Amino acid sequence: MAIQCPKCSSTLIAARNMGKKVCCGIGIVAGGAQGVSNALKGAKIGGEVGAFFGPSGVFMGRVAGALIGAMIGGVSGGMAGAQVGEIIDDRVLDNYECLQCEHVFRID
Ligand SMILES: [Zn+2]
Repeated sequence: MAIQCPKCSSTLIAARNMGKKVCCGIGIVAGGAQGVSNALKGAKIGGEVGAFFGPSGVFMGRVAGALIGAMIGGVSGGMAGAQVGEIIDDRVLDNYECLQCEHVFRID
């Protein structure tokens, strides 16, 4: 389906995806916060697993566990944020911009 500008009927339309961009950013930050608690859990689990390999294993396990936990938090937060943003783009924001006359509009 070609999207048309309601003002000048141009079909040169760009999706702005503002909600997606903003929410993805928020999600990464929120996910990062979640990641901190994941990191603590990861460090604990990593330390326990690493204990099988002696004292240096505990240290390595904690570092790896913390990093993995933090990454999972940030990535899943960003993905969840992008999904929420997509819904906001589709339903709430004026998501389309005419490249011809710069008119911003949304499609119901
Ligand atoms: Zn236009």
